[in-house]
Amino acid sequence: MTCLAIDFETANERRDSACAVGLAWIEDGRVVRRASRLIRPPEMRFSPGNIRVHGILPADVRDAPPFPVAMAEFLPDLEHGLILAHNAPFDMGVLRASLAAHGLPVPSFSYLCTLQVARQVFPDPAGCGLGKVASRLGIRFEHHDAGEDAFACAEIALAAVRVTGAESVAGLTRVLPLRVTTLPPGPEMPRYRAPGREGIAGRAALSARRQFADAEVRFMIRGSTGNRYEVALEERPSGLYLRCTCMAGRNRRRCRHVDAMVDGDVTDLISENLADVERLRRLIEDAPAGHRVEPERLRRVQAA
Ligand SMILES: [Zn+2]
Repeated sequence: MTCLAIDFETANERRDSACAVGLAWIEDGRVVRRASRLIRPPEMRFSPGNIRVHGILPADVRDAPPFPVAMAEFLPDLEHGLILAHNAPFDMGVLRASLAAHGLPVPSFSYLCTLQVARQVFPDPAGCGLGKVASRLGIRFEHHDAGEDAFACAEIALAAVRVTGAESVAGLTRVLPLRVTTLPPGPEMPRYRAPGREGIAGRAALSARRQFADAEVRFMIRGSTGNRYEVALEERPSGLYLRCTCMAGRNRRRCRHVDAMVDGDVTDLISENLADVERLRRLIEDAPAGHRVEPERLRRVQAA
């Protein structure tokens, strides 16, 4: 089974806006190959916040191949492989959204999130973001270059293998309470249909039920002072809301815990429902144009 770490950078907030990919292959307990490619996103719209993170400009990718071409040589390695990513819901979301945007099937593979691995093997009050874990482990890399990030992700997994005595990266799941997520082959997510005349609220409620199958969605977040807060998704007649139990949330103000869930940042997520974070992202991103469930709307906190 091929084992490789993957990292995507995106041009803007859309998950199908990949502008760079980095990969690092693991064999026999070490990184044996690295690659990175620039990708021309479907829409040449770069958000300043994203540029600040990765430094890639529209001019850098104007002549780069589109996603299917850039990824063609790597997709066979993904098939039936074990994929590693740091904060995997983000990268898996990019992969799936980008394949779907080009009408391509999602290959069947398993993935493991090295953020979850690091939380269990290398916990630290400073958090387990890629840069922080890498620096604690003495892994030298240029953060936010896709190829470098994939390399650091692979090295974190290898360090965890050494520390835990697991026989391989795949073997981590036998020594740690970790789940490997296996994607079924084929187009994976049901897409929204264009909205009718029911209005945003009705659509949002419908889509929330589709996304979450009527289950209560709650995220447990570790606050900066170590307190635990709960962010709950609520359906109201007027739309969807994320409500937090922290002081700001109770005072109906936006808080960083809600922002983190909206952004898909799972650094301080304690609850295990990573899949719900990804589904929330899709809920925000996939709502039909003109009827989008705007993040601002989700961020708004109202009294129950
Ligand atoms: Zn909060």
